[in-house]
Amino acid sequence: MSAFPSILEGIKDLELGHIKALLRRTNDLKSGQPPRLPLQKTLAVATSFLENSTRTKLSFAMAIMRIGGYHIDFHAESSSLKKGESLEQTLLTLKYQGVDICIIRTNESHLLDQFREYPPIKIINGGDGINQHPTQALLDLYTLQDHFGGLKNIKGKTISIVGDCIHSRVTHSLTDLLPQFGVNVLLCGPDFFIPEEMPAGVNRVTSLDEAIEQSDAIYLLRVQTERHDKSISDKLKNYQQEWGLTFDRFRKHSKVLPVFHPGPANIGIEVEQDIVNSEIWMAHKQVQNSVFVRMAIIEAMINNEDHHIGSQYKKIPGDISERIRNT
Ligand code: ASP
Repeated sequence: MSAFPSILEGIKDLELGHIKALLRRTNDLKSGQPPRLPLQKTLAVATSFLENSTRTKLSFAMAIMRIGGYHIDFHAESSSLKKGESLEQTLLTLKYQGVDICIIRTNESHLLDQFREYPPIKIINGGDGINQHPTQALLDLYTLQDHFGGLKNIKGKTISIVGDCIHSRVTHSLTDLLPQFGVNVLLCGPDFFIPEEMPAGVNRVTSLDEAIEQSDAIYLLRVQTERHDKSISDKLKNYQQEWGLTFDRFRKHSKVLPVFHPGPANIGIEVEQDIVNSEIWMAHKQVQNSVFVRMAIIEAMINNEDHHIGSQYKKIPGDISERIRNT
């Protein structure tokens, strides 16, 4: 297995071995084992959320605290980014101040691609546009296998992701992740929310009833209006009747299923209050587990001895005065 990546942008940055190791370490950390950090190292982690967040940012803050690190919250709005400084120079500034990892959220998909070749600092993607949200998918996988009694028990299970799949970075990470563990993923929602191309192991069902019938778990999504144009909002008038999950729906099929949600949930739209108040609502478990999963991710990244972080090796080679003379 290769070293844990220094840039965790998406699920595809991780090998199967990394993912299994993260799940095992999450169990250890949850059961109270101490974090493993490099000796004599003060861990400093920055969060830079250029888009709104409650759960992800606070759970990272808790994870940093529990692992014994220092947390710096970088406010883009009051920073030199507003004076025209590039994100790369900002991240290099954090690195030279001694920050080890920066967790970045942005509304721009693939913003982090630019740092792949020359990482200015170790980076964890906290959600980029509609592209990826790897730490959410990992905590979902952890919670799913925990619910079903272990990784081997989720092989062959079916989970339906219901709603605004196309604008959901969580869906894009889940569809990269879950099939690796033998989980069948069904996408379900109005046509305009379902991508035309599906990754291997991912299929489509056309109604919520079909999804309930065929699934062992349901994963609800928020309608992500901030990513829509007007043409979509006009088509959402009957969303709650058609796609909203209620106990009445389950009654029709004489079954209830665990219901996952990445949050924030719009209660009364994609899910009714009674479900949120019941024991089938898994979102609180997802939030609880998120802290330990993120501890495991930070620990794995801090222990990768990547000495190429920072732009030292991006410098123009050769003697500068020589170059000036020759040009
Ligand atoms: N919290 C998740 C995200 O950041 C889901 C959502 O916003 O609906 O993508």
